[in-house]
Amino acid sequence: MNQNLILTAAAVSKLIQELNKLPGIGPKSAQRLTYYLLRAPEEQSRLLAEAILSLKQKVTLCSICFNVTESDLCLICRSDHRQHSKICVVEQPQDVLALEHTRIYSGLYHVLHGAISPTEGVGTGDIKIDELMERLQDGSIDEVILATNTNLEGEQTAMYLNKLISPLGIRVTHLARGLPFGSELEYADDVTLTRALEGRQEF
Ligand SMILES: [Zn+2]
Repeated sequence: MNQNLILTAAAVSKLIQELNKLPGIGPKSAQRLTYYLLRAPEEQSRLLAEAILSLKQKVTLCSICFNVTESDLCLICRSDHRQHSKICVVEQPQDVLALEHTRIYSGLYHVLHGAISPTEGVGTGDIKIDELMERLQDGSIDEVILATNTNLEGEQTAMYLNKLISPLGIRVTHLARGLPFGSELEYADDVTLTRALEGRQEF
């Protein structure tokens, strides 16, 4: 254990250690948060602890799209206002949030919970690909939008899915790729620039 942690109360060092395990929280931030909670009203710590506990107790995955939900089907799958003929495939539940934030898309989703990555030992059977193919069997889906990440793993996954889905006669589309809004050409990486050129449109 860190020498400094031994000098503090056990409960303090315990919380610092636990917070430090969270992504993006370094030892300094963990320390700051812990001492903040120590000074804050007890109510705040209780609400935080309850929120953390109910996260695991109440949240489950939608049995159709595998987005996070508190019931068997998520709000999107249950909604009559969504286009049930379109599925947007994403890697993580937080991608659904990002796309919903744009308010442009009104179809359904499918969360893969990862991407194919031979280097990290993630194969096609480790993410929700079979479950996606199952959803495409009844002929009710006319378009699948591949919205995986733009990194190597995301691209590999999109290519693999395209190969599986195209023969079913379902339209497969891909999010338009190009330079991020507000970016400068000279700082763009090669792949992005190549994409931006290949995907160029009439002005
Ligand atoms: Zn769902």
